[in-house]
Amino acid sequence: MDLTSLRSHNNRTVLGLVRSGALTRADIAAAAGLTPQAVSKIVARLMAEGLLEETGTVRDGGRGKPRTALQVVADGAYAWGAHVDRDELRVVLLDLTGEVKSSSIVPLAAGFTPDDVLDALERLVEPGERVLGLGIGSAGPLDFRDGVVSPNALPGWAGVPLRALAEQRLGLPVVLDKDTNVAVLAEAWLRPMRDAAVVFAGTGLGAGLLLGGEIHRGARSGAGEFGHTTIQLDGPICVCGRRGCVEAVHAGAGADAPRVLGAAVANLVQLLDLDQVVLSGRSVLEAPEEYLAAMPEVDVSITSYGPDLVPVGAALLVLGELF
Ligand SMILES: [Zn+2]
Repeated sequence: MDLTSLRSHNNRTVLGLVRSGALTRADIAAAAGLTPQAVSKIVARLMAEGLLEETGTVRDGGRGKPRTALQVVADGAYAWGAHVDRDELRVVLLDLTGEVKSSSIVPLAAGFTPDDVLDALERLVEPGERVLGLGIGSAGPLDFRDGVVSPNALPGWAGVPLRALAEQRLGLPVVLDKDTNVAVLAEAWLRPMRDAAVVFAGTGLGAGLLLGGEIHRGARSGAGEFGHTTIQLDGPICVCGRRGCVEAVHAGAGADAPRVLGAAVANLVQLLDLDQVVLSGRSVLEAPEEYLAAMPEVDVSITSYGPDLVPVGAALLVLGELF
């Protein structure tokens, strides 16, 4: 499917409004500040491409002439999303409404190589006429712009051009971002968020940041390495080579792990004046009540995506090009 011709600003505005509930052409024109003629033309184009459909009629408060309501066509387009974790690969397929249509996991043996990941992706990811591409969420450090990953704690993974390798192998457009950044995308898809962190405590520990409504990637797309901020001088050695990082202290804290994360999250909230924190990752999902109880006094919740958070966010990185 040729995305590029549909990615204009106006097409994206119209699709985004229909997704968020602006139902008729008149509603869209009012919300987007476009003329009714312009909206009719854009809607006709998106309907011809199979991304929008008419669903029936609505009346404005029972008066006036009935107007045709629009909705996003669920099977109008699909995107694959993958999470390369330190011990497994998780892959989902999303439809255009963001619903998960399939989800699969492949274990990754200790010392797995980039080729092992590409082999697994090749088995799980199927191209198709309406498939827009694959999004990959990976542990950092990585470079979002050139698609190169160098994750901590994975020997043989320094400077791997994973995006280009996956595009070659799969014959699909591929985008790559940090696991924590795509986690933020997934949460922001569900509700409005402005200054928020999605804290991921799984095989690694990190935080995706949404500042002023935008994902904050930083100068070298290294933002969010929250797990490698120091919380204990001369503390336990960390996979990054330093001592006393949040990730290492949390991993060795046993029953105190939620308190360690709570203290670190309180620092983050203080530093950035966040008003929302979403907790995710294996450690949190295993003991959600303990983690919630240890958090500072802001709007804190547990992700509703469960273990699919990162692959869903990665797929939304692809789908998001239409909205
Ligand atoms: Zn560290």
